[in-house]
Amino acid sequence: MNLLEHQGKWLLSRWGIPVPQGRVADSREDAITILEELRGKAVLKIQVPVGGRGKAGGIKVVDNPESVDAFFKIWDGTTFKGYPISAFLVEEPLVIDKEMYMSVTLNAQAGNMLFMFCEEGGVDIEEIAVQKPEKLLKLSLAPNITYREYHFRRALSEYGIKGAALIKLSQLAEKLYRCFINNDLFLAEINPLVVLANGEVIAADAKIEVDDSSLFRHEELKSFKVESTEPLERESADIGVTYIKLDGDIGIIASGAGLSMNTMDLAYEAGYRPANFLETGGGITRELMRRSLLLVTKNEAVRAVIVNLYGGVNPLVEAAKGLADGKKELTRQVPMVVKAMGNQQEECWRILEEADIPVIKNHRTEDAVQYVKGMLEVVN
Ligand code: GDP
Ligand code: MN
Repeated sequence: MNLLEHQGKWLLSRWGIPVPQGRVADSREDAITILEELRGKAVLKIQVPVGGRGKAGGIKVVDNPESVDAFFKIWDGTTFKGYPISAFLVEEPLVIDKEMYMSVTLNAQAGNMLFMFCEEGGVDIEEIAVQKPEKLLKLSLAPNITYREYHFRRALSEYGIKGAALIKLSQLAEKLYRCFINNDLFLAEINPLVVLANGEVIAADAKIEVDDSSLFRHEELKSFKVESTEPLERESADIGVTYIKLDGDIGIIASGAGLSMNTMDLAYEAGYRPANFLETGGGITRELMRRSLLLVTKNEAVRAVIVNLYGGVNPLVEAAKGLADGKKELTRQVPMVVKAMGNQQEECWRILEEADIPVIKNHRTEDAVQYVKGMLEVVN
C-alpha cells in the first residue's frame, strides 16, 4: 500500500529525517486554524497516494484565510487522478534553495535494494533517468550487509558532494535506509529533498510504499490501511477473508488465491462473469465458511455460487458444516455447487449431500462450472 504524504512524513520523522512543521486538516476551518498556528503563512497540499500534484495545482502557498477558502473550493470533495481527496496537509512554507532526490527501492528480481540520489530533484525520477542518467547515483545494496553512514558517504563523495552537505546527506541516507529495512518497505522516496536557504536539508515530500503482507508486524502502519468504501469488502475483513466485488453474476468462494482466479477464468470461458473474488486462505472454520456464503450471496447480482476447496491445511469437514449452516440462512434461493478435494473428503461430501448441496468429486473445476451452467439453464 502507498502511504499518503503526511503518513510518510510521520514515518520519516520517526526515523530522524527532518520534515516540515505542520499537520493534517480535514476541513477548511481546521486549515485556517493551522495557518494561524504557522503564523499566517502555509503551504496547502492535497493528500492522495499519487504524485504530480504540484503541476496540477494541488499544492499552494497561502497567507490569508481567503486563499484557503479558494483552495478548498477547488479541491474539497473532488478526486485527483481517480483518488478521492481524503485530507489536506498544512505545513510551514519552505524557502527552497535547491531540490534534490533520494530513494531506496526494492529490486526483487535482482534480490537486492537500490539507493538512488540526484542533485537535481523535484521532477520525476524517470525523467532524470532518461535525460540526465549521468546525474543519477545508483548504489546496489545487498540484503546480507548492514550499510553504515560511511558506505553512503563514500558513494556520495565519488558522486561529487563535498563538505557539510556530504555529512548531512550521508547521515540522511543511512536513516532512510534504516527506515526502509525496519518497516518492510518496497519504496522510500523523498522528492524533493530540499536544501533550505540556511543549508538545512528537509524532506518536502514523501512517497512510501509498504509491503502489505508485513503489516502484521507494524501495528502503527496497519492503521494507515484505508478501509474500503464497498460495504461487502469491509465486512469481509471482519470475517477474515479476501473479497473483491466484481460486476458479474457468479459468486465464487475458493480456499486459495490461485484456485479463485482459476475458477474465475473458467467461469469467463463458460460465458459467465464472476461477481466477486473470494479467497479464504488457510484459516477455514465452520463460522468463516457460513459467513462467506452469506457474504457472497448478499450481492443481489449473484445468480449462482461455485465453492472451490482444497483440503490441505484447511479442514474440509468444518467447511462443509459451515456451508450447510449458511445455506439454511439464505433469504433467497441461489443454485450452488461445491468442489472439495483433500483431507476427509468423503465425510465432507456426506455432510454437503445431507444438506442438499451438490458436490463435484474430482479435481476438475470445469465440472463445477458446467454444473452451474446446467442449473442456470434450467432456471431460465
Ligand atoms: P508532487 O508534485 O505530488 O510530487 O508534490 P511535491 O510535494 O513533490 O511538490 C511538488 C513541488 O511543489 C516541489 O517540487 C516544490 O517545488 C513545490 N513545493 C512543495 N512544497 C513546498 C513548500 O513548502 N514551499 C514551496 N515554496 N514549494 C513547495
Ligand atoms: Mn514529489
